[in-house]
Parts: sequence; structure tokens; C-alpha cells
Amino acid sequence: MSDCLFCKIAAGEIPSAKVYEDDAVLAFRDINHQAPTHILVIPKEHIADSAAQITPENSAAVARCFEAVARVAAQEGLSDGFRVITNSGAAAGQTVPHLHFHILAGCEMAEKLI
Ligand code: 5GP
Ligand code: ZN
Repeated sequence: MSDCLFCKIAAGEIPSAKVYEDDAVLAFRDINHQAPTHILVIPKEHIADSAAQITPENSAAVARCFEAVARVAAQEGLSDGFRVITNSGAAAGQTVPHLHFHILAGCEMAEKLI
């Protein structure tokens, strides 16, 4: 999508601090990190605005994202644990409508999610 921020990052039109990349997935550091490690994992293709649009037709890209999550966690040495979050919709705090997963680690995390 031409006016999508994360599509532009995936295309290299907007620079990012890349952590991992393959043919289907890009992982890069969040510009406004909310934990010592805060990495965004995105499908390079704009397959969905959010988790609300995952279907049998596009879910292979979601699996690729989670394979990347495991690789990034190993690469970043997150053996103590990490949290993966996806916000879907404005009411959940989503600000960029291109499916993405936050990897958060490196600080004490509350047992409760909200
Ligand atoms: P959301 O709020 O949609 O779940 O997450 C979007 C995330 O993208 C936010 O954590 C925000 O800090 C991050 N973000 C927004 N613009 C940029 C950018 O230009 N570069 C990077 N690396 N992260 C961004
Ligand atoms: Zn996009």
C-alpha cells in the first residue's frame, strides 16, 4: 500500500534499525521503545491491516512472522523471556494499520496484561 508507513519501511523508503530480514518478514527496532528490547515484526507484504483480517488465505505470512519472532528472540538473547503483543484497532491502541507484532523484553513485566 503506497501510503502505509510500514510498507515504506519494508521497501527501504523509510530507514529503520533492522534486526532480521528474510523474503517475507522484516524485524526492526521500535522508534519509541517501551522496553529495553522493543522490536516490531512485520510481514513485508501488506496482507492485513491488523489481526482482525487474518484469513486462511493470508495466515502463512503470520506463521512466517512467528518463525521470525523465535529467531529474533534467539539472536537478541531473550532466554529470560519475552512478550509478543499485537494491537488490533484503535480501541486497542493500534496506530499503524499494517499487521505487526511487538516483541518486548528486558524489564519486569506485569503478570496482568492490562
Ligand atoms: P501500534 O501502536 O500500531 O501497535 O504500534 C506501532 C508502533 O510503531 C509504535 O510502537 C510506534 O512507536 C512504532 N513506530 C511508529 N512510527 C515508526 C517509525 O517510523 N519507525 C519505527 N521504527 N517505529 C515506528
Ligand atoms: Zn502496509
